[in-house]
Amino acid sequence: MAEKILLNNIDRPGSERIDTYLSQGGYAALKKALETMKPEEVTKAVKASGLRGRGGAGFPTGLKWSFVPKAVPGPRYLCCNADEGEPGTFKDRVIIEKDPHLLLEGIAISCYALSVEKAYIYIRGEFVVGAEKLTAAISEAESKGYLGRNILGSGFSLDLHVHRGAGSYICGEETALLESLEGKRGHPRLKPPFPASVGLYGQPTVINNVETLANVPAIVARGAEWFASLGTKGSTGTKLFAVSGHVEKPGVYELPLGVSLRELLFEHAGGMRQGRKLKAVMPGGSSTPVITSEHLDVALDFDSLAAAGTMLGSGAVIVMDDTTCMVEVALRLTRFYKHESCGQCTPCREGLGWLEQLLEGLESGKAGPGDIELLLEVSSSISGKTLCPMGDAAVVPVESTVSRFREEYELHLREKRCPLAGSRAGVGQGPH
Ligand code: SF4
Repeated sequence: MAEKILLNNIDRPGSERIDTYLSQGGYAALKKALETMKPEEVTKAVKASGLRGRGGAGFPTGLKWSFVPKAVPGPRYLCCNADEGEPGTFKDRVIIEKDPHLLLEGIAISCYALSVEKAYIYIRGEFVVGAEKLTAAISEAESKGYLGRNILGSGFSLDLHVHRGAGSYICGEETALLESLEGKRGHPRLKPPFPASVGLYGQPTVINNVETLANVPAIVARGAEWFASLGTKGSTGTKLFAVSGHVEKPGVYELPLGVSLRELLFEHAGGMRQGRKLKAVMPGGSSTPVITSEHLDVALDFDSLAAAGTMLGSGAVIVMDDTTCMVEVALRLTRFYKHESCGQCTPCREGLGWLEQLLEGLESGKAGPGDIELLLEVSSSISGKTLCPMGDAAVVPVESTVSRFREEYELHLREKRCPLAGSRAGVGQGPH
């Protein structure tokens, strides 16, 4: 049985309550940090653990913390990014709803390390239950002295708030999140300056994902060396994989980083639905390039997936079988990104609409010769030419499906119809 860090508590009755959490040793890591470690020792442990951000970018967490300048007057902030909006991603939600105190403990320890006394959990608006559970958990933790003034008599205080977003995908981008938190329209900021130096209300700010912060108590409790012994050299610890699509048992699985795609899909997620053939996988959410059944033995870690031409992203593994039309996949995702564009940059705002039109033409049999090249030309006019990373992310479904399934695009052109239309009859809905 693989070691778990994050999902140990979720199946217990009342897992979201503080009594359940305390009965399993909860808040012992916070106590240990406050009573036996200096703030910089906590940062050192997080650095030594090799923990990398679990929100998508995979940036080393301890290093990110060390970018916060020490001598800036005024407050500094920590924002927990709980905006989880990437299609296919639903792993933070499990922690938020089933084990909120694990997240609160991670936030409290991280704030102690960073000398932060005010922190926010920015949660996506649709997560109503999650917001309620977090709010209730904060009250419980305050009443028992794990949050609020003078935590456990240590002299360290932390004021923690839950802030609900209004349902915008782009507010998961860290600077758009800060704008939204400040009460403004969620437009990404031009970087630099980065939030570590100029963040919330112009003050130094650390923004970490839910899963990232939920790993911190285990690092403090069991040590950086133990944490680093899990996973691979460059990708330490475990990962929550949110498996969706055409598998028998979709769900959230916690496994050591470096587990093979084959093991995840066939030993844990029950294999392909109705025994059908695997066609494509987006291994880290809808903005990570597709891989195919040839990649079943790839290790699911940051470096191995990069070597395979894709990304670990958020660990949202979207699985598609041979009934899936890849042009339709690209079309649906392009529609999503077009809808979510904040409109600041012309290539993103206009270009995604053009891509949608071209894909609609291909899918409905109305495309003409040269439209596949045009699709790629428009994609390259968006990628790398926008203010925030969404421009790059939004063209990935198009570029990667054309690259790996070009013959399917050409078949749409030649036959002037979708060759897979109707092939899903009797096998349920598509993956989205
Ligand atoms: Fe907005 Fe798109 Fe530009 Fe990002 S790339 S700032 S989402 S218009």
